[in-house]
Amino acid sequence: MTEAVYAAKCTTCGAVSYAKHLICPKCRGEAFQPVAIKGEGTVLSYTDVYALAIDYDVRFLRLAIVELDGGLRVTGQLLDADPKLGKRVRTTVGVVRETGGKATHGLQFMPA
Ligand SMILES: [Zn+2]
Repeated sequence: MTEAVYAAKCTTCGAVSYAKHLICPKCRGEAFQPVAIKGEGTVLSYTDVYALAIDYDVRFLRLAIVELDGGLRVTGQLLDADPKLGKRVRTTVGVVRETGGKATHGLQFMPA
């Protein structure tokens, strides 16, 4: 099964944003095309979030902001027991949440 997480590329100026904006932050354009988020990047910031909805079956989620090699900054789940700022990671897509047998896919990072 191949799932993908998509960023939005402005068809006017080419700026890529994630999460998607309704209006391009650069040129205020309103038309976008999806581009799959992939590749490698660098951890800019990470945090462990303990305040989760009650139906999560994990104690905390480790979230990171990663700057991809193309310059896009994305937020996702960091699958790394030994996270460090500046560490190289690669993007993947996996199950970030499971509730009542229903899986939600999202962006994840693992050590490159
Ligand atoms: Zn634009």
